[in-house]
Amino acid sequence: MEKPKQLIDKLEETSRLAKEEWTALIQGRNQEIAEYLFEKARYWQHKYFGNRIYTRGLIEFTNYCKNDCYYCGIRKSNKNAERYRLAQEQILECCQNGYELGFRTFVLQGGEDGWFTQEKLENIIRVVKSSYNDCAVTLSLGERSKESYEGLFRAGADRYLLRHETANEKHYRDLHPAKLSADRRKECLWNLKEIGYQTGTGFMVGSPGQTPEHLAEDMLFIRELEPQMVGIGPFVPHHDTPFAQEAGGTVELTLFMIGLLRVMLPDLLLPATTALGTIDPLGREKGVQAGANVVMPNLSPTSVRKKYELYDNKICTGDEAAECRNCLNRRMEKIGYQLVVDRGDYSRRDKGGELCTT
Ligand code: SAH
Repeated sequence: MEKPKQLIDKLEETSRLAKEEWTALIQGRNQEIAEYLFEKARYWQHKYFGNRIYTRGLIEFTNYCKNDCYYCGIRKSNKNAERYRLAQEQILECCQNGYELGFRTFVLQGGEDGWFTQEKLENIIRVVKSSYNDCAVTLSLGERSKESYEGLFRAGADRYLLRHETANEKHYRDLHPAKLSADRRKECLWNLKEIGYQTGTGFMVGSPGQTPEHLAEDMLFIRELEPQMVGIGPFVPHHDTPFAQEAGGTVELTLFMIGLLRVMLPDLLLPATTALGTIDPLGREKGVQAGANVVMPNLSPTSVRKKYELYDNKICTGDEAAECRNCLNRRMEKIGYQLVVDRGDYSRRDKGGELCTT
């Protein structure tokens, strides 16, 4: 078996590793290897994106959810979660506020809430798209039928985020109730891609029971799916879930996985997530320095911020959107990067750094 640095070189050259190689690389990592990886990750990040960091304004519009994922604070069985739904006018106010602050992508995220029917969702998308025709609408609403995804796409949605959570079927069952499956989740992702959404997937780092082999499978699945975006963040325990007593994921491993993703798919949209910023005050900066190129601050009204509590101690729950944008601006400038006012669509790039037209 080759040494970790050779495996990183191989990944950079061929964009692929075998499962055993991924496992060995993840297992064999240390600080020196991580530095070697991050240097390459930053090389590709700069080649394709310069010092530009894309922003997406996150609107958490409902915390009702019919699912009962063991890790998630807004799971159906959490009777302590205070439930809320934003009215269409409130969603539009968030967009207006976000637009003025320079956001050109709105991410509508929520639990799987049947109150928002297909018709209501399509209507919201149409109104947002017609009010802000230079903006992208991203959805993050969980698993739906292919017909539903098609309808939302026709209504104008541009992108969809659906983390696969873990590619391993057995591990998936350890994290979710029996009626949810990794296969179904993956099928949704293939449908989204086929329909034409710019598609995002991802996983939690350090979720209970996760092994280097599982992470290897995650990397293989992502390589196969070739999504436009991959969101990863540490698992952070939530006190009102079955995983309250489990250990959380680490900054160190999350950064390493970000670096690997950047080197594997160098033109990927890769967020430095709020969860990473939650477990380390400089988490998002470190994420960017490991290869991330997107941040997703919150545009939800402050009155509901704390209620969309997927995990404990989530940051920025008291801040107005403007404060969040300014704070991130300062943070990024401090490390030599710049937030941009741009939809930040994905575009395939060649190894010379040029945009591909075909
Ligand atoms: N209902 C939507 C949105 C889910 S929330 C969906 O099913 O896609 C977005 C992401 O938050 C999830 O995909 C999950 O990876 C992450 N998340 C949930 N609980 C978490 C926790 N305790 N720690 C870290 N991330 C968590």
